[in-house]
Amino acid sequence: MDELVKVRKQLALEKKEKSKLKSDLALARKNLAVQKKEIGKRVAELRLANKEIVFEALEKEKRAAELVIADIELTFQNKEKDKREIANKELEVLSHSLKLASQYSRSLLEASLDLLVTISASGKITDVNKATIKVTGIAREKLIDTNFSNYFTEPAKAEEGYRQAFDKGFVSNYPLTIKHKNGKLTDVLYNASVYNDDNGNVLGVFAAARDITTQKRIEKELIDAKVSAESATDLAEEAKSKAEKATRTAEDAVRAKQQFLSNMSHEIRTPMNAIIGFTKVVLRTNLNAKQKEYLTAIKISGDALIVLINDILDLAKVDAGKMTFEQTPFKLAASISAMLHLFEPKVDEKNLQLIKAYDERIPEVLVGDPVRLHQIILNLVSNAVKFTSKGKITVRVTLQAEDAEKVTIEFSVADTGIGIAENKLGKIFGNFQQATSGTGRLYGGTGLGLAIVKQLVEPQGGSIHVQSKLDEGSTFSFSLDFLKTQASAEVDHEILDLDNDIKDIKVLVVEDMPLNQLLMKTLLDDFGFECEIAANGKIATEKLNEKTYDIILMDLQMPQMNGFEATEHIRKKMKSEIPIIALTADVTTVDLEKCKAVGMNDYIAKPVDERLLYSKIVGLVKKPAPSVEQKEVIDHLTKEIKCINLQYLNQRTKSNPVLMMEMISLYLEQTPPLIRAMKQSLIDKDWMTLHATVHKMIPSFSIVGINVDFENMAKQVQEYANSQLNMEGIPLLVAQLENVCLQACSELQGELDNIKKSIK
Ligand code: ADP
Repeated sequence: MDELVKVRKQLALEKKEKSKLKSDLALARKNLAVQKKEIGKRVAELRLANKEIVFEALEKEKRAAELVIADIELTFQNKEKDKREIANKELEVLSHSLKLASQYSRSLLEASLDLLVTISASGKITDVNKATIKVTGIAREKLIDTNFSNYFTEPAKAEEGYRQAFDKGFVSNYPLTIKHKNGKLTDVLYNASVYNDDNGNVLGVFAAARDITTQKRIEKELIDAKVSAESATDLAEEAKSKAEKATRTAEDAVRAKQQFLSNMSHEIRTPMNAIIGFTKVVLRTNLNAKQKEYLTAIKISGDALIVLINDILDLAKVDAGKMTFEQTPFKLAASISAMLHLFEPKVDEKNLQLIKAYDERIPEVLVGDPVRLHQIILNLVSNAVKFTSKGKITVRVTLQAEDAEKVTIEFSVADTGIGIAENKLGKIFGNFQQATSGTGRLYGGTGLGLAIVKQLVEPQGGSIHVQSKLDEGSTFSFSLDFLKTQASAEVDHEILDLDNDIKDIKVLVVEDMPLNQLLMKTLLDDFGFECEIAANGKIATEKLNEKTYDIILMDLQMPQMNGFEATEHIRKKMKSEIPIIALTADVTTVDLEKCKAVGMNDYIAKPVDERLLYSKIVGLVKKPAPSVEQKEVIDHLTKEIKCINLQYLNQRTKSNPVLMMEMISLYLEQTPPLIRAMKQSLIDKDWMTLHATVHKMIPSFSIVGINVDFENMAKQVQEYANSQLNMEGIPLLVAQLENVCLQACSELQGELDNIKKSIK
């Protein structure tokens, strides 16, 4: 029983346990129902919650999707923002550049000196630059929107201008005048062109105007200057033509002077030659003392006149720059001695002493101009003789220096004469200057001698000095250089005597006038030379081809071929160096230059001085030969006649009656046809022929001794015919010439008859 009590107790415990379990189970059941309910509730809640969760999840998803979209959008927007920022920046840069560009173009426009204006289609100003403001004097804002044409002096023209630009698209160099508000005017030239929008629609006209006031002023100044220049040119031309006229007048004057001098020399020398020549001839005849004395006086006066004429001619040559100096070998000692001999009679007459102090060291032959030296010393010694009444005259020639090529020689002429006051020493070398006003009256002279001496010394590189004391005397001295030479001075031109032993010279005389031909022939015969005549240059050249001659005497004016042409032909074509001496009637410088230019060696003036001719021929030919007999001089004077004077012919023909007759016949032959030709050419008004005919007549006047007045008339006719001026004077002159020639013919006819009778 412990076990059953124990089992019962167990059972009762178990039953109790069972009941308890049952209650626990009921309770558990109850709890479980509650819990079940609770769970249901929870499930419902959970379901709801789940639904909510699903909804929320959906929402969430939706939101997530939205977020993705938002994010994409955000990214997009960010990108867009970035883009916008870049664009903005670019825009900013662009607008800055634009601003700069606009400032730049504005400043360009403003910097322009040209007036710049934009004009709308309605003609209103839309913009202007500063230049426009300046020129109009009106502010920009006042200009803008006003009528463009308002600001010009001619508004209508201004309007027309911009209208043309609108119509044609442009207008260029359109002249207008702008009016400043204060009235000042500015001339401008407009260039205008239209400007368009992108679509080509015309927006307006852009006009640029250039201020041409300065240009216009310059243009005006230029025109004024041109006008002034033109008038200055006119003035200059007038002055030039005046100067040319003055030069021509001066040249004419010089020519006239030269012509006058050459005429003078011709006029005076011809009669003087006759006077001196025939005085010499008469002096050789039997004369009583008185006659001799008078004739000597005539001869001395004649010599003095010739010296004077030569002096005047020399001065004229110096004036014309024509003084030339030769370089020929000559013997100085002989030259000085010969010269001093000339003074012996005068020195003896005045009871003076003439002393020659010659330095023997001086080489015998020197090269220089003996003629000029002669002239210098002659002048000085003749002054010394003239101005000295007692005492001596010393001519000193001293060797001052010598080298291998040249010597310097000092010449001095000292006298014990009246002397010269100190204050006059500087003047006596001037033209026509004498130491005292009474000199001319007391001693004669012209005051030319020393002037010529100076002109002869200085161009040769020397200088002349004078030392003088009143009442004690004077010493004139000068030095000159001379070249030394090995050559011997065979010929001394001026002091050569006619009876020098020279012959066998063959001379060709080219001369058309028979009278002159004969004259030359007689002269050359006298020299003992062979002579042939050619009547013109052409014949001369033919003769030269056939025969040899030593020298030619060539007349200049000849028919067919004149002297210049003939010489040119001989030198150039024939290549001959034969010496040619020109025979010239007028020693005009022009002729002489021409002579030289064509190759002539020398010239000699007509009427020919026989000594000069002789010395020139001999000088050029240089052909000495054994002695030749001098022909006798026939002292025969023809009796005095009226219109004519046969002295010259007598001298030339040595009064040989046959020659005289021949010459007179020739004159009688040639003159009447010349008179006829002269008259006819006057009737025909053929001035060239008149000139040529009269030219042919002129030499015969001096040959037959017709008064020089007629020769001058003839020259006047030539001059008038040449210049065709003073024509009304010609007929009278021609009539006078005709008369005198006819009279000369009749007188010569009588003369011819007389000679014929006398030789029968
Ligand atoms: P001219 O002798 O013809 O008058 P010159 O020219 O030879 O002319 O001389 C000019 C002047 O110089 C002379 O008039 C004279 O007064 C003066 N005279 C020249 N030589 C001498 C001299 N030897 N003695 C004095 N006076 C002289």
